[in-house]
Amino acid sequence: MSLPLNRSNVPPRPKDVLWIERLKGTESLRFTCYSKSFWGLWTHWSGSRTVPCFENHDHCIGGHDEATMRWKGYLHGWSQRKNRVCFCEFTPGAARELLEQVPDRQSLRGLHLIVSRTKTSKGRLHCSIDGVPLHASRIPPEADPMASLWHMWELDPMSHLVNRSLVTAPELVPMAS
Ligand SMILES: [Zn+2]
Repeated sequence: MSLPLNRSNVPPRPKDVLWIERLKGTESLRFTCYSKSFWGLWTHWSGSRTVPCFENHDHCIGGHDEATMRWKGYLHGWSQRKNRVCFCEFTPGAARELLEQVPDRQSLRGLHLIVSRTKTSKGRLHCSIDGVPLHASRIPPEADPMASLWHMWELDPMSHLVNRSLVTAPELVPMAS
């Protein structure tokens, strides 16, 4: 009797690549935040996929177009839905909503968050703080989302700098999409 081989045509994901939670309509998530603040970055929506907006716009795939720019915020933490460490993607509205609930520039690390999206897949994302935060000493160090983002964008990591920054206060979240 031959034993089945555990074969796969898909290469294993590098160990620094984590799942990125992007909520669809009506989904919600309890998330324990490991990040001190948001990684905010600009992307372009091509009509079929998201690609990064580079600091040097000459490198933007398909060209730099302000009409297609979309801001996204990322937090590292624990997804109770997936029961694993991941990044959670935020819209500007939800990022601002969370930052308005914490004292000025206070760390988000250890906060339990409820992230939810209203009915349709284009519904609004909301975020609220839930329960007593975990002490920062009891949770793993925070991680940078870039390796996971390159993987999600299905692009090889590029040497060009992505247009991103740490976002610690609501006024640093752009008002537009
Ligand atoms: Zn661009």
